[in-house]
Amino acid sequence: MVLIDGKQTAADIKEELKQEVDSLKNNGRRPPHLAAVLVGNDGGSVTYVNAKVKACQKIGFESTLIRFDDSISELELLEKVEELNKDNSIDGFIVQLPLPKHINDRNITLAIDPLKDVDGFHPENVGRMSLGLPSFISATPNGIMQLLKRYEIETSGKHCVVIGRSAIVGTPMSILLSRNSNPGNATVTITHSKTKNLKEICLSADIIIAAIGRPHFLKADMVKENAVVIDVGTTRVEDTSRKSGFRLMGDVDFDNVSAKCSYISPVPGGVGPMTIASLLMNTLKAYKRRFNIA
Ligand code: NAP
Repeated sequence: MVLIDGKQTAADIKEELKQEVDSLKNNGRRPPHLAAVLVGNDGGSVTYVNAKVKACQKIGFESTLIRFDDSISELELLEKVEELNKDNSIDGFIVQLPLPKHINDRNITLAIDPLKDVDGFHPENVGRMSLGLPSFISATPNGIMQLLKRYEIETSGKHCVVIGRSAIVGTPMSILLSRNSNPGNATVTITHSKTKNLKEICLSADIIIAAIGRPHFLKADMVKENAVVIDVGTTRVEDTSRKSGFRLMGDVDFDNVSAKCSYISPVPGGVGPMTIASLLMNTLKAYKRRFNIA
């Protein structure tokens, strides 16, 4: 069994990006600039956004963190988005989700200029991705594609089962794997909470992507010998023995499932670290597109 090391792969990607940024700077260009908008004080969101800003600094990107109180109105946030759309010093930006209940996530996503939408959530980017046109692919599916590519995991002609159909993970994952590309060319089954016979479907899978958000949902008796298993789930469960008071649990019963796998990604240390690396890749892509750099 090969353990898919997302931490190392993300570190490799960041090193590659840093070298590109150094070379841009050596050629007299300014570095790429990512802005992140954070509303409120949700613990998870603060941690994620801080990690994104820190990652930018490490590879030489410029980064700007824009924070608002929970009380900001949707209109005020939309005005900020418009300002960032027009700001020539910013190549890409994200608005960290979830947003407070009085703000409609969709209105905010729709307001972001697709050319600066480095989260890849705008319908224009989702549509272009579906058609195989140049686009920003949302960070988590993009990170998984990078893992499959860098570990040279064959997807062509394989049966891939994606568990979960969310707009940010399951659905784009199923589209990317079925496209005529490498990785891709898989025969994909997308499943969800209404799927019948999930166990039988999973047992026929060469590759399983679990993106549900239910700790240890995927058991060993649902996985065939030598399958590839990618665990996207990250559920925080209380753990008083830790300083943070919680630990992250994946959707896969790792101890029992890993014994049957050819490749498996752990939680933590699998897909998670790749998400930030993908965001940085998208930001460099946005920058290069703006300045017509090949
Ligand atoms: P989500 O929006 O809650 O979607 C969950 C999906 O799982 C839904 O499509 C749901 O089906 C399906 N599902 C729930 N119970 C099921 C069951 N018993 N059998 C089959 N399908 C079932 O979640 P998400 O945003 O995609 O996230 C999924 C997990 O990935 C979460 O743990 C999240 O924290 C994690 N995540 C991690 C990263 C990362 O960077 N590592 C990034 C994003 C998400 P219905 O559509 O029928 O309700």
